[in-house]
Amino acid sequence: MSIRGRAAVLRAINEPFSIEEVEWKTDDPKRVIVKTHASPFCSTDVKNWKGQLYKIPPTILGHASIGEIVWMGADVEGFRIGQRVSVPGTPECGHCYYCSIGEVWQCGELFDLGGIYPDIAVGDDGAEISCAGCVGGYAEYMSISMNQIFPLDSDLDSVTLSMLGCGITAGVGSVFNVAQVKPGESVAIVGAGHLGLWAVQAARLAGASQIIVVEWQEDRARLAEGFGADAIVSPGRDYELGDEVVAEVRRLTGGRGADVSLEAAGPTAAQRLALLASRRGARVVYTGFEIGGAQLTIPQVETALQSRQIRSSQNGQVHMRSDLQRYTEMIERGLLSADGIVTRTYDVAELDLARDNSGSFDDVCGIIAFDH
Ligand SMILES: [Zn+2]
Ligand SMILES: [Zn+2]
Repeated sequence: MSIRGRAAVLRAINEPFSIEEVEWKTDDPKRVIVKTHASPFCSTDVKNWKGQLYKIPPTILGHASIGEIVWMGADVEGFRIGQRVSVPGTPECGHCYYCSIGEVWQCGELFDLGGIYPDIAVGDDGAEISCAGCVGGYAEYMSISMNQIFPLDSDLDSVTLSMLGCGITAGVGSVFNVAQVKPGESVAIVGAGHLGLWAVQAARLAGASQIIVVEWQEDRARLAEGFGADAIVSPGRDYELGDEVVAEVRRLTGGRGADVSLEAAGPTAAQRLALLASRRGARVVYTGFEIGGAQLTIPQVETALQSRQIRSSQNGQVHMRSDLQRYTEMIERGLLSADGIVTRTYDVAELDLARDNSGSFDDVCGIIAFDH
C-alpha cells in the first residue's frame, strides 16, 4: 500500500522547511499510519530547527499530535481503522526496564534510541526521512509505533486535544504527579507559555492557596491571571531581574519562598531562579531545557543543606493509558481550558511562520491543523 502526502521536512538546519510530497513506508508490522488532524508547534522545535538539540536532517519535526488510524501493520492488535488516537511525545511499550518498574515516562523505546530515530518516509529524491522524537507531526500522515498511540473517547476538537501529548501532560502532570501540590500550598511557576498556563490551572485545581507566576511577556501574564494566578512578577526577557524576582516571591510568601516552585520556561537561568524562589525543603520541578549540552549551576547550601528536592518532569510523569483520558474529561467539564492558549492555527506549508511566531513569543501555542 502506498501512502503519499505533504510534509514539512527539515532538510537542512537553519534553512526554511521543505514542503514536499513524501511516501510513508508500510513495511513495519508493529507500526500504524495515522492521518494527522493537528499538531501543536512546540517551542522545542525552534531549537531543533537551529540544530541545538542534535536532530539529524532530513527529518520531520513535531513531537505530539492527534489523528486517525488509516493503516495498521500485521502485528498491531487492539486498534481499528478510523480510530482517533492521541500521539504523545513519549511511548509506553510496557516491557522495557523503565515500563516494568512503572517509570513509563522514561520508556526505552524512545530514550534508548540515543537520538537516532527510525526512517519512516521517502522523499521523491530517494532520501530516507526520519521522524524526530518518533512522531513527526508536521506532516499529513505519521508512521507511529503501536506503543505510542492512545485512543481517546471524546467529542472535543482535535486542535485542543493535540496539546495532550505536550503542554497538557507536561504542565498538568508536573503539578499533580511530580510536585504533588497539596491544598493550601504556595506555588511559584516560572514561565507562562503553553506549558506553564496548564500548570497554573492545575495548581488552582489542586487547591494552591497562592499562585505566583514569573513571566515577562504581558499577554501571557494576563492569561495566567485569568487562569488563577494571584501575582505576576517579571524577570525581564533574559532573566536579568532574577534577584529581584526571588526577593519578591519571598516577600509574598512570608519571607520563606514558595512551597512548590515549578520551572516551565527552558533557560537555565529560569531553573536557577525557580530554585532560589523556593523555601527550604520545597519541591522544585524542572520541565524545560535550553540547548543540548547546557550546564545548570545551582548553589550548594540551598540544595545540599536546605533539603530542597529537585524533581524532573519528563512528560509530567503521566501514565498515558489513564491520565490522557482523565485530562480530556477535565477539559470537557471545564476544569481545564485551552482558551487563549491556542493563539492560532497554521497550514503545514506555513511552518516557517509558526516557528517565527513561536520563537518571538507572539504565539503561546500555534497549532498545525490538517483537513480531516
Ligand atoms: Zn517501555
Ligand atoms: Zn513540546
